[in-house]
Formats: sequence, structure tokens, C-alpha cells
Amino acid sequence: MIDRLRDRTEPWDMIVIGGGATGMGIAVDAASRRFDVLLLEQSDFGKGTSSRSTKLVHGGVRYLQQGNISLVMEALRERGRLLQNAPHLVSDLEFVVPNYEWWEAPFYGVGMKVYDVMAGRYRFGRSKNLSVEETIERLPNIEREGLRGGVSYHDGQFDDARLLVNLAQTAFEQGATVVNYARADGLLKDGAGFTTGVRLSDQETGEEFEAPAKVVINATGPFTDSVRRMDCEDAAPVIQPSQGVHITLDRAFLAGESAIMVPRTSDGRVMFALPWHDHVIVGTTDTPLEDVSLEPRALPDEIDFILETAEPYLVKDPTREDILSVFAGIRPLKRAAEEESTARISREHSIDVSASGLITIAGGKWTTYRNMAEDCVDHAITVGDLEDRPCVTKSLRIHGHLRDAERFEQRLHDALPYRAGEVVWSARSEMARTVDDYLSRRSRATFLNARAAIEMAPAVAQLLAAELGRADGWTEIQVKDYEEIAQGFLP
Ligand SMILES: Cc1cc2nc3c(=O)[nH]c(=O)nc-3n(C[C@H](O)[C@H](O)[C@H](O)COP(=O)(O)OP(=O)(O)OC[C@H]3O[C@@H](n4cnc5c(N)ncnc54)[C@H](O)[C@@H]3O)c2cc1C
Repeated sequence: MIDRLRDRTEPWDMIVIGGGATGMGIAVDAASRRFDVLLLEQSDFGKGTSSRSTKLVHGGVRYLQQGNISLVMEALRERGRLLQNAPHLVSDLEFVVPNYEWWEAPFYGVGMKVYDVMAGRYRFGRSKNLSVEETIERLPNIEREGLRGGVSYHDGQFDDARLLVNLAQTAFEQGATVVNYARADGLLKDGAGFTTGVRLSDQETGEEFEAPAKVVINATGPFTDSVRRMDCEDAAPVIQPSQGVHITLDRAFLAGESAIMVPRTSDGRVMFALPWHDHVIVGTTDTPLEDVSLEPRALPDEIDFILETAEPYLVKDPTREDILSVFAGIRPLKRAAEEESTARISREHSIDVSASGLITIAGGKWTTYRNMAEDCVDHAITVGDLEDRPCVTKSLRIHGHLRDAERFEQRLHDALPYRAGEVVWSARSEMARTVDDYLSRRSRATFLNARAAIEMAPAVAQLLAAELGRADGWTEIQVKDYEEIAQGFLP
């Protein structure tokens, strides 16, 4: 990567400063539109906020509470797209809102139905009201005293740093040059004051470079304002940094496969307790900050707040001694009006073009990184006077997509040799469109063992639905249709 940087004499079409979700998303978008793009990250990819999130690919039930319908719709659409493009990294997670008051079941039950409807064809699992027994079955560690039941809904979960690394690989495969440990130290300007590139240094060797570019993009999250000041010393700040903390506990604190969602904490936020990599993470907080750093530290008050909020919901109260790890991240929120609390500041992104042509993208969330990138590259095309080429990332597969080894290697039936990956392959490469296509002609399951084939049908339908992007209900119809056909193959 450094050699490419050193050998380059022509201006890059775009230089992106910042290797978090925002910057890497832009590199993937720009490279897949066949632009020559260079991405610079001062530390490691994802060192900033993008490895420190709650790890949810979500529409944001909280934003629904706040009435921010357009943000929720956008995020729900992107959630569905990410599941399609990176099924090896995104999984469906059931959340339960435990109810201790009489009004909670109808209130949250209706709210979650609205969330389901808004997701439309990109819906994950369906929401439903749960009895006390069903709630305990899902959350064996839930505090039972006063428990009236729960409301279950679904959202996506992912590994943020892993997705970032896979995005870096995708950007590279699409032709981007992405360099970690390369810091942007200043901007290059021409005689008229226009931004014409970036001055940077290799953080391992100290070597300095001047990289010319048609357009420069500032995607540095919490550090946005420091790069804006490289452009113009007295640039007005656009970021209101706010810290969020999570604690990690032993899995024993939250057995079962579901997460707890607390819809209203004492400071008016939501709080989650989630199973993640066989541990439990609980968070988060929202503390306005003055200064930003690459290694933010949790404040004692934030840890106390998380423990206090978790206590009433768990059979065993977690204490400081139970905390296995605590991590803090800085939300790069758009600066809001003085009186607005950070919990209410919009999570939508904004794009600003300075007088010198520096593009700054700020705000947003992990879930919407793709959409943010599309918007930003559209702006960069105008600012850099580049050829207008359409975005292709809505269906661009993210590196690792095909290597969904565990899921794809799974045998579909003991009596037949077929594996899940073959169903996906048949849809992708052999034009299989229905369960019957796969079971009867791409594989020969129907002809070999009709009874076993009928038993395989639901799994085949689900694999095809995910691969072909089918709406809810499609799998049931497919299975029914196939069963009718397969009945004719039984003696
Ligand atoms: C506690 C918390 C929980 C969250 N949970 C969720 C969630 O569950 N779901 C969700 O969708 N979103 C969530 N978010 C939001 C999401 O994590 C962020 O919106 C996203 O990660 C921001 O990415 P970014 O690329 O803008 O910033 P960052 O990831 O911080 O990336 C910016 C990068 O720029 C680099 N940089 C800075 N200056 C320079 C320079 N001069 N030269 C080169 N590089 C530079 C930094 O090193 C850094 O790596 C959460 C945020 C927080 C804080």
C-alpha cells in the first residue's frame, strides 16, 4: 500500500481521511464506482468509535420513541441490506422488553408492531407479546418479582471491528489503496486557496508524503473539527462529542439467546444487555465531552450508572468485581442547539463543503454507513468534477460473504449428502428460483428420498429467501407448494 502511495504521480480522484465506518464505507463506494481512492487512517482501522459500539445493526427503537421516522426508515432499510451483503457478520437477535407495569405490554407491543411494519420487506423476526413464562424462558436471569410479561422484537447484531476489516478488504478488492498508521498532518492548497491534496506521515517510519487529489474528504468522526482546522484555522466546530460506555460481564448474568432492552433509564435513554461472543455486554451512557482521544476512559459515575440500571432487571446484581472489561467510545454527534441534551441530538449525518472544497461528513451511525457513503461520494463527484458514475453498493457483497463456512457447510439431512452452501450456490450460479428447483433438479433429493427432501424443504426455503431477498411469507408458500409436488414422489 505504501509503495502504491509512493509511486503515485497522478492526483488521486479522492483522498479519504479516517478509517472508521464512515471513511471505509466511502472508500468501498468510491472504489466500486471505479474511482482511484486513497484512504488514510492515523492508527489502526476501527481504532476510533467504530470498534466501540453496542454492535447493533438497528433501526433504533429510541429514535422511534423520539418520532424520527425518516432516520428509523433509513436505518431499517440499511439493516436489511447489510444482512444481505454481509450475512456472515450480521445475525438476527431477539430483544425482550420486560414488563413490570400494566401499561407496558400494550404500549411497547404497539410500538414494536409499528417498527415491524416500517421495516417492510427488510423485516427481521416478528414482534410479539410474551407471557411471564415465555419471558422467563427467554431470559432465565430476569428479575421475577413483579414481572408481568414482556414484549419481544428483533434487530440485527454484528461484530463492528470485524465488519470494518472486511470492508477494508472489500475496498482493496475494488481497487482502493487503504493505509493504516498513516496520519494526515495538513492539507495541500493551490494559489487560489483550493484544497489539492494531503500532507501525511507514515507513523511507523516517520516518512512524509504529499498526496495530490481532486477532492479530499474528512471522515474523522470525533476528530472532525481538528481536520477542519487544518483547512481553516478558525473553522466553526461541527461536532458535539459524547461518550458512551459498556461493561462486559460473564455469560452467567444473561443465560439464553435473547437480549434485554430497557426502554427508559433514569436519564431518559435506552439500555441494553446483550449476549455477544459468549459474554454479556451492558450499556450504554451518554456523557458530553470537551476533549476527544483515541483511548477514551469510562468515568466511575458511568460504570455506577450502568450497574444501577441493570440491577433491578437481573436476578444476580452485578458488582464492580464482576466486570471483565469496560470500553468507552465517542459519538461524533452533529453539534446541536445549546439547550439540547446529547441523548436527543440527531443521529442523522450531515455533509459540509468548505470554501476550499474540503468535504466533511459528520454524524450518522454504523448501521447507515453505506447510505452515508453513497451521499458523500455523490457530493465528491460534484466537488471534484468527476465523471458521474452510479453507486453500486446496495447489492455489493462484503468480503467474506462466500466464506460463511459454518452455516454453509451444514448438512441439510442425515440421509442425503447435500449442504447449505449448495443451495446458495444453485441460486447464485445455476438460476434456481424455487425450493422445487433446488431439491428436484439442482440436487436430486426429491428423486433419491422424497421423505427426506420434504424434511429439508424449510431449510432450503430459508436459504433461498435470504439469497434471493424474498419477502416474509415466501418460505411458507414455497414449502407448501413443494410438499404438494413431493407427495407425488411418495409410494
Ligand atoms: C457507545 C456507542 C455505541 C454505539 N452503538 C451503535 C450501534 O449499536 N449501532 C450503530 O449503528 N451505531 C452505533 N454507534 C455509532 C457508531 O459507532 C458511529 O457512528 C460510527 O462508528 C462512527 O464512525 P466514524 O468512522 O465516523 O468514526 P471513527 O470510527 O471514530 O473513525 C474516525 C477515524 O479517523 C481517524 N483519524 C482522525 N484524525 C485523523 C488524521 N488526522 N489522519 C488520519 N486518520 C485520522 C481516527 O483514528 C479514527 O479511526 C455507537 C456509538 C457509540 C459511541
